Amino acid sequence: MTQVASHRHTDSDSEQEHVPFFDLSMQMNSLSDEILEAIRPILASGAFIGGGVVSEFEERFARYCGAKYCISLHSGTAALHLALLALDLEPGAEVITAANSFVATAEGIAFANCKPVLVDIDPSTYNLDPELLEKCISAKTRAIIPVHLYGQPAAMKEIGEIAASRNIHVIEDSCQAHGAELNGRRAGSFAQMACFSFYPSKNLGAAGDGGAIVTSDPSLADRIRLLRNHGSKVKYHHEILGHNFRLDAIQAAILTIKLRHLDKWNEQRRNLAKYYDEQLSKISGIVIPATAPGAHPVYHLYVIQVDDRAAIEKALTARGIGSGVHYPVPIHLQPAFSNLGYAKGDFPITEKAAGSIISLPMYPEMSRSQQDRVISALREALPEKQS
Ligand SMILES: *Cc1c(COP(=O)(O)O)cnc(C)c1O
Repeated sequence: MTQVASHRHTDSDSEQEHVPFFDLSMQMNSLSDEILEAIRPILASGAFIGGGVVSEFEERFARYCGAKYCISLHSGTAALHLALLALDLEPGAEVITAANSFVATAEGIAFANCKPVLVDIDPSTYNLDPELLEKCISAKTRAIIPVHLYGQPAAMKEIGEIAASRNIHVIEDSCQAHGAELNGRRAGSFAQMACFSFYPSKNLGAAGDGGAIVTSDPSLADRIRLLRNHGSKVKYHHEILGHNFRLDAIQAAILTIKLRHLDKWNEQRRNLAKYYDEQLSKISGIVIPATAPGAHPVYHLYVIQVDDRAAIEKALTARGIGSGVHYPVPIHLQPAFSNLGYAKGDFPITEKAAGSIISLPMYPEMSRSQQDRVISALREALPEKQS
């Protein structure tokens, strides 16, 4: 997972040279007065759990996504876990997801006593390849969780059609895709349920952990509300076995403030991506990210591919430029999931990507001069294209 850097800007030369992989400080500084003002009454009232501040955020976020209900939770992992529990599947039910995702997608499936079944990805979008989906569907398949990886919507139309023809549920892992669009619709409105994370470095991030499920199905919304709060609607009356997975009021207040800026921040990310695309496509040896037809990504991450990643990482580090790899070890090769019985070679496209992807610095407040420093570092490390 992305590390959240708290980077202080000073006038010293070495600090100026530095281009962090991710930087929240400008965003938090510009909003800190407003945030403190929103938190003060919560501290004074002691209403830290639930209440109007939480339901206000839920209403706003549901509306933002184009869904009827939002059930806020304490993490994206909890959202994936509860979305599956809400479907009340039999133990051992198979749930299909992409081999190339953050480990939490598979964790959510395993926590719900289901079996993760992995599918390889489309080499250009890094998202679950719908062409490979049919082969993975068995008599035990109950749900598919496409991940909108790096902020680009998965092939929801194709996936939705395959799922609908077989009565299989679809849940979006939208944890990297707040505000991402496909054919004019927003992530969160493509499937029966969608799971979001508000981890600080996500496009919409809390000042701590947070998450949510959005859905337009009232009975699923009801069941998720029970599951997140000890199976209880009325205090000390517990209808079903539940969890303590609530979002707290302080995080909800912060998210309500930050949600107002999300579209602007996503647009800034898109502008940065456009400039990276233009400049990096002039350098040979770099594969820039592809946009699927109809998709309007939000660039949670800007991921390129290079042949010699170790050399590129070294060159960037030497110039004080941060980078990341999302993700270096695919889910099927993680010791935590060795019980699934997968082996090296099972998902060749995911494995090849895992060896050559590198995520460049990307956050809304990144300056043109910082971006130019990243681009010239890559230009120095790789040859110019002959045209
Ligand atoms: C961040 C993330 C999650 C998990 O979210 P948390 O809030 O960290 O639990 C799940 N899936 C994907 C794709 C993510 O990026």
